[in-house]
Amino acid sequence: MSWSLQSMEMFPSLVNVTRHLTWEELACKDGTGYPFKFAEDGRVYRLAQVFENIRSLCLDKPIKIHSAYRTPEWNKKVGGVANSQHVQGIALDLEHTVMSNAMFHALILENWRALGVRGIGQYKTFVHIDIRDSPKLAVWSGKDT
Ligand SMILES: [Zn+2]
Repeated sequence: MSWSLQSMEMFPSLVNVTRHLTWEELACKDGTGYPFKFAEDGRVYRLAQVFENIRSLCLDKPIKIHSAYRTPEWNKKVGGVANSQHVQGIALDLEHTVMSNAMFHALILENWRALGVRGIGQYKTFVHIDIRDSPKLAVWSGKDT
């Protein structure tokens, strides 16, 4: 398979973070918006770029976001771990709209370093990815919540 990393496509606006990712998609499911402080310190753009890299690698087709930012309260409610990467605003639970979840997971796992992924969790209907500060890859599988 041949593919290339997209150039930084940053046009932050009131709607979009990057070309294929909106602020609304990053918001907590309880209605809380993605925290401004995480935009200010730049992490949201690193996360969005990794999302664009994954999208570009995976057929350049839409990817559904099951979960992105979570408030600590919402994280507790959905059974997330206490120091969840979602609470830190650096994780996405993704479902590809065309390829199987197994194939999607395999592609990300195979290309994690180039993509900028540092954590990958395999679930039944989605793949968790995050950009934790680590030179190594954290890998696990779990049950959908
Ligand atoms: Zn997750």
